[in-house]
Amino acid sequence: MEYKTTIGEGAKIYFLSDFEKPLLCIVSYLFIFRHRSDNITYMQCNEMIKYALVYYLIRGRINFENYNTNIIMDLFKPLDTKADEAELKPAEGESEKVKCLIIGSGPAGYTAAIYAARANLNPVLYEGLEPGGQLTTTTDVENYPGYPDGVTGPKMMEDFKKQAQRFGADCRFGIVTDVDFNGPVHKVIIDEKKVIEAESVIIATGATAKYLGLESEKKYMGSGVSACATCDGFFYKGKDVAVVGGGDTAAEEALYLSGLCNKVYLIVRKNYLRASKVMQERVFNTKNIEVLFERNAKELRGDGVVEEAVLIKRKGESDESEEMIEIDGFFLAIGHTPNSAPFNKYLDTDEVGYIKTTPGTSKTNVKGVFACGDVQDPVYRQAVTAAGSGCRAAIDAERYLGEK
Ligand SMILES: Cc1cc2nc3c(=O)[nH]c(=O)nc-3n(C[C@H](O)[C@H](O)[C@H](O)COP(=O)(O)OP(=O)(O)OC[C@H]3O[C@@H](n4cnc5c(N)ncnc54)[C@H](O)[C@@H]3O)c2cc1C
Repeated sequence: MEYKTTIGEGAKIYFLSDFEKPLLCIVSYLFIFRHRSDNITYMQCNEMIKYALVYYLIRGRINFENYNTNIIMDLFKPLDTKADEAELKPAEGESEKVKCLIIGSGPAGYTAAIYAARANLNPVLYEGLEPGGQLTTTTDVENYPGYPDGVTGPKMMEDFKKQAQRFGADCRFGIVTDVDFNGPVHKVIIDEKKVIEAESVIIATGATAKYLGLESEKKYMGSGVSACATCDGFFYKGKDVAVVGGGDTAAEEALYLSGLCNKVYLIVRKNYLRASKVMQERVFNTKNIEVLFERNAKELRGDGVVEEAVLIKRKGESDESEEMIEIDGFFLAIGHTPNSAPFNKYLDTDEVGYIKTTPGTSKTNVKGVFACGDVQDPVYRQAVTAAGSGCRAAIDAERYLGEK
């Protein structure tokens, strides 16, 4: 299957296969880390595409149709913000009517697309900045039913997409930058330009784990650094690991890992735990958990994989000191950011930003707008629960449209 996207006005890039899309993600990540930004604007996206372009040019992966050097060179000119802003306004007539719009291409989005397509809703799915979702950033997935020998995250998401496309889901590259949920028809802006008028909208935009921002954290991502104990704990069976955080999630992750690992250090910045009393008691009563209060992680070290963490004790105090712990795994449990920013003007969210849904359904407070997957799930955040809720959202959308 060929993947096609456009740059500027006519240069078309053909990536050789869907399999190479994760590479584009890697380039995107490099860009995001360089800018240390959570919010990628349209202009930054253009910038990102430039990096991808250079990358693919170097790798000899690009064939240009209508090759036009000026268009390519234009991309490398300094940005003229005013001209760009003018260009970003939706062009008149550039709108499209859609019965069921799905935002996001993780397990939730693709599952919703499979069900919506099979229910004849002709779903259009926008993939966002991370086609395939969070699982494209991991190697082995061993807990998703149906893959007895395990599967890599990118391969699994390729399978999800193929299954959705088999039933006619229209999967497109594009980012939702704004919405207008005021009227009976929901307006969704793609890439700050195109307007989609959707009768029903399924939001499946996921959540992003927070990291400390250490250079070495990036270096060992997937080689000892993880933000999901349930997902990756098994790989550290019998080993020594550290969990960073002082809240309920950190306590839960530490307790989960204590059942698998030899030793679990819980690294806490403050001199107390924020976790609930019950969770604190469970942590303190677990023999192989050692709570290290007033510690900040400074650096991770190791030969290709994490072998030790350097901690600062009582940072900023007169008796500040440095210490080292030997570990194989370093788990972040300092929270997630749900990707609900474009929608939270209209949708009810909790204090962190998770979209609220009517219990037992995917219904939000706006009629015809449904949410599924990690963006509405502060608790489980697993591929299988995301997929399950994607199914629910498509069925809810189908019933809503049927009753209209
Ligand atoms: C490193 C890692 C390893 C993991 N391993 C496992 C595992 O082994 N097993 C397991 O069950 N779970 C695992 N998880 C958790 C699992 O990946 C998530 O629970 C799951 O991917 C959530 O699915 P989702 O569809 O809700 O969202 P995501 O997978 O996060 O997908 C969100 C999608 O929304 C898109 N999007 C976001 N904003 C916009 C926008 N404005 N416009 C358009 N699109 C947008 C993104 O591009 C992306 O495609 C892991 C997570 C990580 C980070």
